[in-house]
Amino acid sequence: MIKIEVPDSHPRAKSIRVRENLIEKCHQNVVAQAGLIAHGRGEAFDYLLGEITIPPAQESIRAAAAAFLLAKHPVLSVNGNVAALCPKEIVLLSQTIPAKLEINLFYRSQKRIKAIAKELKMAGASEILGIEKKYSTQLKNLESHRRIVDKRGIEIADLVFVPLEDGDRTEALINNGKEVITVDLNPLSRTAQKSHITIVDNIIRCVPLFINEINLLKKSDMKTLKSIKTDFDNKKSIAKVLLHITQQLSRMAEES
Ligand code: ATP
Ligand code: MG
Repeated sequence: MIKIEVPDSHPRAKSIRVRENLIEKCHQNVVAQAGLIAHGRGEAFDYLLGEITIPPAQESIRAAAAAFLLAKHPVLSVNGNVAALCPKEIVLLSQTIPAKLEINLFYRSQKRIKAIAKELKMAGASEILGIEKKYSTQLKNLESHRRIVDKRGIEIADLVFVPLEDGDRTEALINNGKEVITVDLNPLSRTAQKSHITIVDNIIRCVPLFINEINLLKKSDMKTLKSIKTDFDNKKSIAKVLLHITQQLSRMAEES
């Protein structure tokens, strides 16, 4: 494997380092090859956001934080890209809520499950679901490998966090009566469109903000949390994201 040294002076050093990390994690079986392609799709949409957390995403983060604090059995679903991009942050999020962590993969193999579990353990996770066969069961209305879920996790969850997720699975989770929160840089993806709360942001940027918001809202009463959640409208939120992108592009066109 060829490793490149990225000089700090490179204008896109941060982005290149993230890519290099994903490639390395792909060689270690954490990230699937298709995960690298998905990352490229995400990067393209991040350019359109100006690579910042835009105001509509901040509102989604607040609604998602309230939903997590109201949930009885919240679960964070982890795939290869999430484990490679922000392992420490996702473990900290699970401890802050608190919520269970479950490995759930489209390109499922024991090798990958083991590699991702190792990554999460190194990041401080004490309990990881989705590993042991004796606890596995199947979600209805889903053909892919992601129908396999943990009896102690997604199977009994009322709220599932599915960042960087495929549309079919999001839909299956919703059809199985779960409340679904996602992080997806593409506001037009099926996952972004169908979830109950969509955070259109880079997972690397938004998980730390999400943790902060949960800590802030922990001081609020149930009534306040419920009104934050019910006042949120995902369709309107995605419309705001699209408008933000359109206005940003118009401004850039006028300036050039
Ligand atoms: P869908 O199945 O929902 O219609 P898709 O097939 O394009 O969408 P998937 O590969 O199933 O997408 O899911 C990956 C999603 O994650 C993509 O929409 C991609 O833009 C997004 N994504 C990739 N990297 C990141 C990131 N770092 N942060 C947030 N989202 C990301
Ligand atoms: Mg998909």
